[in-house]
Amino acid sequence: MGNQGAYVSHRNTGGDSEQPMTETDLRTHAADIHEQFSDRLDITVEEVEERLDTLVNEYKVPTNEARRSVVNTYLDDAGMERDDLSGGGGNDHKEIADVDKPEEWIDITAKVVELWDATSDAVAQVGLLGDETGTIKFTKWSKSDLPELEEGAVYDLRNVVTDEYQGRYSVKLNRTTTIEERDEDIEVGDDEAEVEGALVDIQSGSGLIKRCPEEGCTRVLQNGRCSEHGEVEGEFDLRIKGVVDDGETVHEVIFNREATEELTGITLEKAQEMAMDALDTSVVADEMHEKVLGQYYRIVGPTLGRYVLANEFEERGSPADPDAVLIKARSM
Ligand SMILES: [Zn+2]
Repeated sequence: MGNQGAYVSHRNTGGDSEQPMTETDLRTHAADIHEQFSDRLDITVEEVEERLDTLVNEYKVPTNEARRSVVNTYLDDAGMERDDLSGGGGNDHKEIADVDKPEEWIDITAKVVELWDATSDAVAQVGLLGDETGTIKFTKWSKSDLPELEEGAVYDLRNVVTDEYQGRYSVKLNRTTTIEERDEDIEVGDDEAEVEGALVDIQSGSGLIKRCPEEGCTRVLQNGRCSEHGEVEGEFDLRIKGVVDDGETVHEVIFNREATEELTGITLEKAQEMAMDALDTSVVADEMHEKVLGQYYRIVGPTLGRYVLANEFEERGSPADPDAVLIKARSM
């Protein structure tokens, strides 16, 4: 196994601890709020602080709630929506791997890893941002009127908002976002994931498969047909699409030929022999079920959509009762 320190898994984002409110803190909040409304409302920092002070110290309202309440009052006064507000200085500075909720206003420092072609007029730029912990898609709206980001450059991006689509997170740069280029480089980490648990299912399309031999196409054939190229003479390959249950949730993992051979002890050559003897390729997947289902593994690799690609894995020994694991898995 490789260097453990490189794995990104189960990151502990921690929580904010309760701190007693000091005058300086209130003053900072007040200055933040004042800044957000200074061009719309004729208010002073002192007035804002007084409102906060009343709520926090007289009515014992928690500071965050007090802040929200005061901001809401000023939003009403200014005829503004919450979305019109910039986050001020109140955002968390987050590492990309820690982005795990949609609709959060955050600050990040990241390198533009790739720029993609925008497919909509509403989008000025779209691409991939990266920091040491991983990468994330970004979208910059046309109406946000922000400067052009350059590929390879590193930026402080303040007040971006997170989004989620089919389990994948992204950040949106909007008109309240500020962009500042930094004179430094970042070594962008890959999105390695680590899962550990019982292999509770092997999905269809596993075992001895045939792939389309056409240039640039590696689609798995269904009944000898490629969905793109029709009936073709396929090339044999081995693959396992498995489901790992870590006790809390299930992860889909893919073992390529090399990993499948190591996992099952069945080489591609052996698999072809087995299939020929039985005149049926499904005997290979059946044999694989026998060998690995219910076993415990620790699997590390990059993520591809909802899959973890099993670049490295190790067996963690069998659970006390493999049948119980499978029964539980079937009931989920
Ligand atoms: Zn094809």
